[in-house]
Amino acid sequence: MTDHKRLAELLFPDIQKTPAEYEALYPPRALPEGAMVTRFAPSPTGFMHIGNLFSCLIDRLAAGKNGIFYLRIEDTDKKREVPGAIDAILSGLAYFGIVPDEGMTGETSEEGDYGPYKQSLRREIYACFAKALVEKGMAYPCFCSEEEIAALRRQQEADGVTPGYYGEWARCRELSDEQIEEKLKAGMPYVLRLRSFGNEEKKIFVDDKIKGKLEMPENVQDIVLLKTDGIPTYHFAHAVDDHLMRTTHVVRGDEWISSLPVHIQLFQALGVKAPKYVHIAPIMKLENGNKRKLSKRKDPESAVSFYVKEGYPAEGVVEYLMTLSNSNFEDWRKANRAAPLSDFPFTIKKMSASGALFDQAKLEDICKDVISKFTADEVFSRVFAWAKDEDEPLYRLMAADPDKAKAIFAIDRGGAKPRKDMARWNMAKQYMAYFYDELFVPEDPMPENITAEDRQAILTRYAAVYDEADTKEEWFAKIKALCEPLGFSPDVKAYKKDPAAYRGHVGDVSTVLRIAVTGRRNTPDLYEVLKVLGKERVLSRLAAAK
Ligand code: GLU
Repeated sequence: MTDHKRLAELLFPDIQKTPAEYEALYPPRALPEGAMVTRFAPSPTGFMHIGNLFSCLIDRLAAGKNGIFYLRIEDTDKKREVPGAIDAILSGLAYFGIVPDEGMTGETSEEGDYGPYKQSLRREIYACFAKALVEKGMAYPCFCSEEEIAALRRQQEADGVTPGYYGEWARCRELSDEQIEEKLKAGMPYVLRLRSFGNEEKKIFVDDKIKGKLEMPENVQDIVLLKTDGIPTYHFAHAVDDHLMRTTHVVRGDEWISSLPVHIQLFQALGVKAPKYVHIAPIMKLENGNKRKLSKRKDPESAVSFYVKEGYPAEGVVEYLMTLSNSNFEDWRKANRAAPLSDFPFTIKKMSASGALFDQAKLEDICKDVISKFTADEVFSRVFAWAKDEDEPLYRLMAADPDKAKAIFAIDRGGAKPRKDMARWNMAKQYMAYFYDELFVPEDPMPENITAEDRQAILTRYAAVYDEADTKEEWFAKIKALCEPLGFSPDVKAYKKDPAAYRGHVGDVSTVLRIAVTGRRNTPDLYEVLKVLGKERVLSRLAAAK
């Protein structure tokens, strides 16, 4: 019979601490009854999926003010690691106003009493818990080489049995103490495997907070806990961490459901309570009438960085994601227009078990709405910050005359019916373009129902009476006064009654002026536009349009 204790000492001679010491070091958290501890546990691969942001939002809302939401970095796979990824994750979250309560705060900095929050700094902890499993006879070293494992798999395929390292196929399971010692002495590399105590005939039951009751066959695979270099696998590391960091709710994508039998067994082997599970359905996309997951490879909008680069206002994206989280959110929002998100009675229970469709048009509408409520100063500072990273020429133009840019954004803003032209900051340049000679490009042609001669006359006569100092009433009175001498009706209704009697109406006159100075048919209030453009530019545009 194996002397488990002796084997544990043999494998982990340097590990002196016991799990009990770590239990004491990371005691259950003193939180109010019912408060949740959630975590975001990304690998630092440099890519953050919109689904990750969504789950972070859920983590944050679920933990609320009483609970804890922490950031743990799962960097056990060094091959996939990208430098700067932690900072990128943090700034991504910060852009969307999601701030963890503890965990990593930078590439090498962290905050909180339950760290280290980066798995590569926790090797001793994993070794300690692995050692304890060996002591209990629940883990053993496996010396099978990659070739042997491949041969095993071929044999299993030929025999038509479930592939993997389990049961009678698990050759190193029953190595004697002498055999193990001999191999260790010979310096043979080994992985540490779980001695699975699962029975395929039996089931695990998990009451998922979104998916409901799940049942699956128990795990029978002797999964790897520590790789040959002593680095833990994700499965083992996350179980140790979620326990020691006292996670109450694991919120993650539902692609992890298939790993539940392994995870549940690991918590059992460790002799600790498993956390509760909140498996989120993926965000879907409609393609040729079929629903599919937003794909990292195919869909640029799957990346969180896409929203930052395009300049979607963070509030709009979060607001949109909220509509995917709880179906009562939109009604709540209608009734509580100005309330902060934290007032929304969010509940995991109301989350949908199946994947919501990503609706870009709806996202844009929500963003337009959000932006329309910003003050001019707010719009200015957001566009300015965005342009700094994404549009250098625009940034320089704004920096040269901030007041002008603010004045542009102030037009038609602040009233009961603000315009909703902009959904993203990368639409700002187009929105502002005609105010700057450097950017001005006429977009719309002059109305065809007005003859070239009439247009000339309108432009010439208006240039003669235009006065920058006019009040809005005076300004409009002047435009009306242009009408009659040119055969246009100053009154649209009168024109409509007898169109043949006129060459056009006051609206046509304004349109000619509007297109002359802005190059567009549709702009915010023309009087305000002229004010911001200033006399010189107005006159030169009128002249150029002739
Ligand atoms: N590190 C895993 C990932 O990259 C986390 C899975 C989990 O949340 O348990 O997705």
